[in-house]
This record gives sequence, C-alpha cells and structure tokens, in this order.
Amino acid sequence: MGSFAGRSGCAETAMAAIIDRYSCLLLDAYGVLLDKSGPLPGAVALIRYLNEISKPYYVLSNSASTLPEHMAAALAEMGLPIPQRQLITAGLLLVPYFQQHGLVGRRCIALGTQDSLAYVLRAGGTVVSPDTLGSVKAVIIADQTGFPLLEALDDTLSVLLRHFDRQEPIHLVLCNPDLIYPRASGRFGFTAGGLAAMIEAVLRERYPERAYGFVRLGKPSPGLFEEAASRAGTGDMVMIGDQLATDVLGANQFGIDSVLITTGLGLNAGTVPWERGIVPTYVLSSLHLPPLLKAN
Ligand SMILES: [Mg+2]
Repeated sequence: MGSFAGRSGCAETAMAAIIDRYSCLLLDAYGVLLDKSGPLPGAVALIRYLNEISKPYYVLSNSASTLPEHMAAALAEMGLPIPQRQLITAGLLLVPYFQQHGLVGRRCIALGTQDSLAYVLRAGGTVVSPDTLGSVKAVIIADQTGFPLLEALDDTLSVLLRHFDRQEPIHLVLCNPDLIYPRASGRFGFTAGGLAAMIEAVLRERYPERAYGFVRLGKPSPGLFEEAASRAGTGDMVMIGDQLATDVLGANQFGIDSVLITTGLGLNAGTVPWERGIVPTYVLSSLHLPPLLKAN
C-alpha cells in the first residue's frame, strides 16, 4: 500500500515550506484546523505564527451554519484567533447569488440554523416556513442542523413537487456541498450536501426528463476561491484541505496549487479514490512547524 503520497505520486511537503512558497494560504476549517472536539494538532501554533509574521491567509469554509462574526469568536475561544475578514464562508456567497438571480425580496425556504437564516436575510431573501402553501422562488439548504430534520425535509419536498408538477421553477441552492464531515477521530456525520442528494434522488425519479439539481456554492465551485483572490489581491495562493472532492478539486479547477492534509477524513483508511484523477500538488502529514519557527 505505502503512504498516500507514494500511491498518488505527488510530493510530500512540510508546512514551513508551504508558508515560504506562496504569497497567500487558503485553509480549510473542518478537518484541517479543527474538528468537533476542538483544534487539531498544530493548528493553534500555526495560526499564532501566521498572525505573528502577518502572513496573508484566509479560511475557506463550506459552512453556512455560523455567521463570520460568531465563527471568529468561537475560533478565538478555542485558541484560533482568526480575524473575521479572513473567514470566507459559503453562506456569504448567497449575497451575489441572490443579486445575480433576482431573488432579493422574493419568498424562499431556508433550512439551517438561526445564523443560516441570518445569511439568507442578509442576502435579501424573504424567509418563509417550509410548510407554506404559497409559492416560493428558492429553496436554500444551508446546514443540516437547527431544524426538525425529517419534518422540514418532508415539507420542503412537498413545496418542490407542487411547483415542479406545474413546471413552476424554483432556484435550488446548496451552500455546503459536503456529504459528510469528521466529528472526531473515526466518527463521521451527514452534512447538508447529503440532504440535497436525497431530494435530488427523488427529483431524478419523478422528473427523469428534467435536470433538476442544486446549485452548489461551496468548494469545489469557484465562489470561495474568487472571493479569496479578490480579498487577497493576488492569485499566488495555495489551498490546504483534507478532502479531494472539494478542497483539492476546487483548487485544481480554479488553477491554483493544492495541498492535501492527511489528518482529516481518514485518508489512510484506504478508502480514498485518488485514482479518479483528483491529485493534489503536495501531500502534508501534519500542520506542525519546526520548533524554531513557532511564535512565543
Ligand atoms: Mg474539511
């Protein structure tokens, strides 16, 4: 078998080399900096060091469950003091989406947390309950938590089928395309993308001749990378992530280098289909910095 680097043919690298090599670092959050149980090994020292040397970096998260100001506070609380403007979430991409598709002021269903609803409200949406009998223009799946899951999915599905049976269009928007996330070592959970996949399976069966599906805002789509490039003012960026299908594929498609960190979603379990051709520029086995580099 050998290491992932050995099997995929890409070079192993070290965090210090990555910091040197690129003007700006893009870091995934879950599976790279933290998991549900707290910061991952090396993350606290890495963020402290990047802040200390004023290295440009952004956290690119497919999350739409927490507003950036609340995320910044929660990260600081766990020893990861990342400025709010350096947190770019998929929830923020609702703003341009609503503007570009004429959804400002229109009725929509939003599934997620209170902060998810706040993202939709900030984008200009008029949020209505999933059990509405009226017409809606968009369904936004922002997060898998914060609502009665099966009841809300049933209601949302009913709204969709009533509209689509009459061929009335609805924008289907998925903030976080991830299917699963790491809860802790060896433990996984369904993410919003898994809920969208359930609805899409129903729509495929009911309307086989129509291509209904969710627009995916988060990685691997280019939106988060575009926002980062715009904020950073440079294209000399590298994406450091733990998932091939989102972080690495997204970076590859956007045309920047990528680093796969092998600490997140259990890559060493032999379950990763790297044969699909999604190959990172480098493989990294930990965030750890050499002792001399660590900030005091
Ligand atoms: Mg991740």
